[in-house]
Amino acid sequence: MNDLMPTPCAWLVCQAGCDERYPMDEVRYRCARCGGLLDVEHDLGALGQRSGAAWRDLFDRRARLAPPPYASGVWGKKEWVCPNIEDKHVVTLLEGWTPLLPTPDLGEALGLPNLLVKQCGHSHTGSFKDLGMTVLVSMVRHLSGCGHAVRAVACASTGDTSAALAAYAARAQIPACVFLPAGRISDEQLTQALANFAVTVALDTDFDGCMAVAAAFCERHGVYLANSMNPLRIEGQKTLSVEVCQQLGWEVPDWVVVPGGNLGNVTAIGRGFLLLRALGLVDRTPRLAVAQAEGAAPLWRAFRDGWRYAPIVAKPTLATAIQIGAPVNAHKAIEVLRALDGVVEVATEEELLRAAVLGDRHGLYTDPHTGVALAAAAKLAAAGTIGRDERVVVVSTAHGLKFSAFKRSYHLAGSGPAPGVAPAGRNAPLFLPADLPSVERALLPLLDTRWPDHSAR
Ligand SMILES: *Cc1c(COP(=O)(O)O)cnc(C)c1O
Repeated sequence: MNDLMPTPCAWLVCQAGCDERYPMDEVRYRCARCGGLLDVEHDLGALGQRSGAAWRDLFDRRARLAPPPYASGVWGKKEWVCPNIEDKHVVTLLEGWTPLLPTPDLGEALGLPNLLVKQCGHSHTGSFKDLGMTVLVSMVRHLSGCGHAVRAVACASTGDTSAALAAYAARAQIPACVFLPAGRISDEQLTQALANFAVTVALDTDFDGCMAVAAAFCERHGVYLANSMNPLRIEGQKTLSVEVCQQLGWEVPDWVVVPGGNLGNVTAIGRGFLLLRALGLVDRTPRLAVAQAEGAAPLWRAFRDGWRYAPIVAKPTLATAIQIGAPVNAHKAIEVLRALDGVVEVATEEELLRAAVLGDRHGLYTDPHTGVALAAAAKLAAAGTIGRDERVVVVSTAHGLKFSAFKRSYHLAGSGPAPGVAPAGRNAPLFLPADLPSVERALLPLLDTRWPDHSAR
């Protein structure tokens, strides 16, 4: 299964421009010299000793079938992710290998007949956050293995990071602590952290406020910080791009559209494609589009302003996981978007809701963030930025099952999720007397009108 080449190596490097390097297994999130954020840098010379065709072949041989951890979508690409960790220290829930679903009917309705949806919510904790968290928690276990005992891991979260941290920490039997904005995450996300026995702290503030407390707490008490500023998560999430190409028979889509909050995922996806091209597995890159909620769109403002970025105070949105005004990875994301001719689009509350409902009408189970991405993709198609025949991958970041209240409040009449949103297309249950004539009277007309052209197919 493994190789005939020496283990490639990786290190941490300051990305603020001072180029200071640190070993991968040093507990450090910022540069000691200038305070800049860190990145993982790989030894491209060593990785380049294997040809693009040989990498494709290795990744294809490992796909799903290899012994763990290599059956994981992330660890099947271990040399590109975190080569230094011993296999026995890898903490995996066999994340990755989520479906890349062709959705031609939904695509047609959005003006993008070549649409595919990358179903990242079909993962252990129901969001793409698993891809990064497996790497971070594996590093914590590796650190303990080399004598740097870590007391606990902690994060601030808009809901999905805490669910993933709780699960992977429990898998590794490491104490975890999560800081959540009280009342601003879904019941399902809160339940996930509780069920996996993370110490769960609800603070009366927003995500940005939780982040400040979590960072200070970790610094003072030697607790390992699991947030987006930790560069290891990007390394795991990067494998999403490799997996998409692999699922397309090593072809590259024309566009990838992804909802963005802290902007770690778009950074990871962009870097994944750049690495694929640099190492010769593919010969081109896609364009990227980041989708933001209109009231929480600091990146969109930067895009409009010649990529000049300034943080904002984010307004509440149904897409709670991307209600972030001061994204940690803004500068990394802008660099990647510039390299890949990227764009940014926004969706209003009404647009994201309509797109999510449309997705559900075509058999998906759409979370609000994927609603933002679908709506933005449709707007970019309508504006001619995305060509009608281009192959577009929309990254669905979470499973709709984590957002039941979002769906219930839409469909159950009288409790609209957002003022001003038209109730068209609601599907409330019919409360009827328990006799056949009443049921027939109410039901039969609906059966004939709900899918008007189904028999023509
Ligand atoms: C975390 C998250 C995002 C945003 O990802 P970033 O890397 O912070 O930009 C989008 N959607 C869902 C469902 C998420 O959990």
